Amino acid sequence: GKEINKRKRDYSEVVEVTERFQKTVDRMNTQNKTRQEFVSNVSHELKTPITSMKVLAESLIGQQGMPEELYQEFLQDICKEIDRENDIITDLLELVKLEKQDIEINISSVNINEILEAVLKRLKPIAEAKNIELVFESFRPVIADVDQIKFASVATNLVENAIKYNNTDGTVTASLNSDHQYFYLKVTDTGIGISEEDQKRVFDRFYRVDKARSRETGGTGLGLAITKDIVLKHHGSIKIHSKEGEGTTFTVRIPLKYIP
Ligand code: ADP
Repeated sequence: GKEINKRKRDYSEVVEVTERFQKTVDRMNTQNKTRQEFVSNVSHELKTPITSMKVLAESLIGQQGMPEELYQEFLQDICKEIDRENDIITDLLELVKLEKQDIEINISSVNINEILEAVLKRLKPIAEAKNIELVFESFRPVIADVDQIKFASVATNLVENAIKYNNTDGTVTASLNSDHQYFYLKVTDTGIGISEEDQKRVFDRFYRVDKARSRETGGTGLGLAITKDIVLKHHGSIKIHSKEGEGTTFTVRIPLKYIP
């Protein structure tokens, strides 16, 4: 009896270890695949604007006596592609910088309400273009230890997305709250929402739910990856709550006091 019980225990231990091992292998495979996808995505994303620029420039070269207007239009298109290329490279560099462990963030005691007000003010014209109402709900003044520039880019990215993936005439609400330990920034939209499947992946680099749509709206798919990195650097967390067709809420929680 004893012997059998011991064997059973040994056996279940072996099963458990094997399962754990299998899970690790699965995770590594997924990470590897994500890396490969990342590299091939980078190449693709960087090449696309260059291809367009080349075509546009060649048509300019080939045309003699082109009407001034058309000439201007081609040059403007080239500029747009340069801007896009620039966005992608800027985001990539930001990510690479954030991934270097040795680079410290520049923490100081910051008025979070003021930052959020400034961010919303800056994004107002984009919201107005879609007739979206931007609401700032502040439950109390919050002073916290953050990297001012990096935290502003977290808020900017979340509100920008909430506008981009919203419907015309929708609403975006940024709400700020705190307890004795943390402050909470919630950005809620009334937009298209994110499926449960996609919620797991939106923080991945270059991951975009709808690539065609994202290209149109000018996304790089790097915004949320950068956002998450910044939040983690502040020892914070970021969560999604979303329902397709109803809207999305991103909640960022960051400690009021930064302990290195
Ligand atoms: P992008 O530059 O494409 O916006 P992000 O990393 O910021 O890249 O977001 C990744 C993807 O997550 C987006 O392409 C979009 O599909 C989805 N997403 C992000 N925010 C929202 C939102 N508020 N509502 C719906 N989908 C969103």
